[in-house]
Amino acid sequence: MTMLSPLSAPIHRAAWQQALANAVRDPAVLLERLSLPREWLPSAQRGAKLFPLLVPESYLARMTPEDAHDPLLRQVLPLDVEAESPPGYSVDAVGDDAAQIAPGLLKKYNGRALLITTGVCAVHCRYCFRRHYPYAESPRQLDDWQPALDALAADDSIHEVLLSGGDPLALTDARLFALIEQLETIPHLRRLRIHTRLPIVLPERITPSFIERLSESRLTPWMVIHANHARELTGDCADVVRLLVRSGITTLNQTVLLRGVNDSVTALVELCERLIDLGVMPYYLHQLDRVNGTAHFEVPEETGRTLMTELRKRLPGYAVPQYVREIPGEAHKTPLV
Ligand SMILES: *Cc1c(COP(=O)(O)O)cnc(C)c1O
Ligand code: SF4
Repeated sequence: MTMLSPLSAPIHRAAWQQALANAVRDPAVLLERLSLPREWLPSAQRGAKLFPLLVPESYLARMTPEDAHDPLLRQVLPLDVEAESPPGYSVDAVGDDAAQIAPGLLKKYNGRALLITTGVCAVHCRYCFRRHYPYAESPRQLDDWQPALDALAADDSIHEVLLSGGDPLALTDARLFALIEQLETIPHLRRLRIHTRLPIVLPERITPSFIERLSESRLTPWMVIHANHARELTGDCADVVRLLVRSGITTLNQTVLLRGVNDSVTALVELCERLIDLGVMPYYLHQLDRVNGTAHFEVPEETGRTLMTELRKRLPGYAVPQYVREIPGEAHKTPLV
């Protein structure tokens, strides 16, 4: 056995970081891997210029080759229609600018504040409401978070911090744990909520050390995962979601109602059933935020209401999410039924 000196030791990269580095970023590769028509390439390339393609292998593996309507593919495939911005659509549809109380810290609602921890995600969802967020101006490292931490410490009405992004789990453990440690020193904070899509798209990220860190925190952890379709919650994704739940971490799910992805009774019933089978509570069904480039995903509110009526007939009460939309300036997400 050879002893490696610290200098000659290979740089350690967590498995999930390697998986993120290996994610598919080229539209031609995506089409080829799924045996989809080459003719789609120009449209995909134009869409990818507006917001780059990004899809990890784990998520890609859950798509069905040759299926043009695959609900997972639809969420990540760039299209040239994303260049359209119909009336009513903008770059800041949910009033994030006005809600900023410190760099990267948004406070819209009583008792809770949302920290934009990073602009990085492990997947680029075409419907993303933050696809135009000025992330470059947001904090990147611990020092940059200081004004936000000071603002949190100065406002003792805040009891819950939401880590958002981008995706907070795109941060390395070193950064994430350092941030959590800082939050734990603020006496009036009681809960830590993590909004993330990484259990869905990059399950490798849910490591034992991450779960352990959350479990031992002084702050009560709440996880909100973002799954939009039952087919996402299979294989390695289902394994880590089960692991989270069995580790005692309360886990909720938030879904965006998306045309061509989950705008049917069957798709939503299957999604909610799958979630409760895994021990996850369906929390919100979100009406799409009207952000430029996403109009082709919009489902009329009327259709959403009809879908909710059908969900109530088919599911246990606790499995029915709240159908809401975000209206800038309102004191809470606005219920639509
Ligand atoms: C959506 C959101 C929250 C969370 O709202 P809940 O109804 O508690 O889930 C908190 N802060 C901001 C800025 C938000 O946009
Ligand atoms: S993971 Fe969330 S923030 Fe990132 S692209 Fe998807 S919807 Fe947007």
